[in-house]
Amino acid sequence: MRPHRRVGHPVGWTHIAQSRTAYAERVPDRRLLAVHAHPDDEAVGTGSTLAHYVDAGVGVTVVTCTAGELGEVLVEDLAHLAADRTDRLGEHRQGELADALAILGVSDHRYLGGVGRYRDSGMAGTPANGDPRSFAQADLLAAADDLVVVIREVRPQVMVTYDPRGGYGHPDHIQANRVAHYAAALAAVPSHRPDLGPAWTVSKIYWSALPRSYVEQGMRALVDAGGTRLFGVDRVEDLPFIVEDDAVTTVIDAGDQAERKLAALRAHRTQVSDDGPFFALAELLGPHVLGREFYRLAGGVAVADPGHPLQWETDLFAGIGEPAGAPSGGHP
Ligand SMILES: [Zn+2]
Repeated sequence: MRPHRRVGHPVGWTHIAQSRTAYAERVPDRRLLAVHAHPDDEAVGTGSTLAHYVDAGVGVTVVTCTAGELGEVLVEDLAHLAADRTDRLGEHRQGELADALAILGVSDHRYLGGVGRYRDSGMAGTPANGDPRSFAQADLLAAADDLVVVIREVRPQVMVTYDPRGGYGHPDHIQANRVAHYAAALAAVPSHRPDLGPAWTVSKIYWSALPRSYVEQGMRALVDAGGTRLFGVDRVEDLPFIVEDDAVTTVIDAGDQAERKLAALRAHRTQVSDDGPFFALAELLGPHVLGREFYRLAGGVAVADPGHPLQWETDLFAGIGEPAGAPSGGHP
């Protein structure tokens, strides 16, 4: 293998570049960066989207901000891993995440700042929120710079993360939103930390979204099938992560990827139970329902699909020209 062109760059940049040599050898024209808080979020929120774009030849990079050390362990024989016992859940979940990413076809994955840099902050309102090691307590600039390195290396046209409420309010999801937006802004400023690589502007930023009509459909199916509650509530209004349909800008309808999403969810064995809502919905409505993932455009210009009944976008890269600002034959 030829020596990497970026070995001259300072710390952080260099070790990442070296580990990504194969990726850098042949840079795809279109590149997608997903910024997630914990192992399993990539599958839950974006599994079908990631697999869809991998199959389309897009360069897909997933950044996970914590190792999910404080997740609840749903598997009894692994209960000893929990944070209040041996505190080894993070290590275990790294393996689950690696399996899930392999199923989705994602070969470029990084932990923000390196594995173990930021710890899971726990659910909102728990004492772990104040842990100085936690992602929620991280210095915003330092955490953003850990992502600036990735943005300037990968040079994604599209970035996907959470809304400012963190979807359902988890402090790590809120922090992921903050860090992702701050990093995208800083990465575009040439005078900001030139040691972290040449400036890059992300063209479109999306937030994962669950539209009301979609959740209502799922809720109705579960209730009709015998009164199962969705995520522990009876009314859609009680779900904190619902967004109104007219706030949604984009849908990725990748029914052909639904089985991979289910398999990736299953790989997160300690977190996702086999009889959970995803599997119930796939059973009741057909697995294709899980292939549909929704987004709100939070930065950039939406280019609606004229064929879509609600005039939503059906491609995260819609409007991104061939390939505006993309490299012409490798990195500088
Ligand atoms: Zn999460």
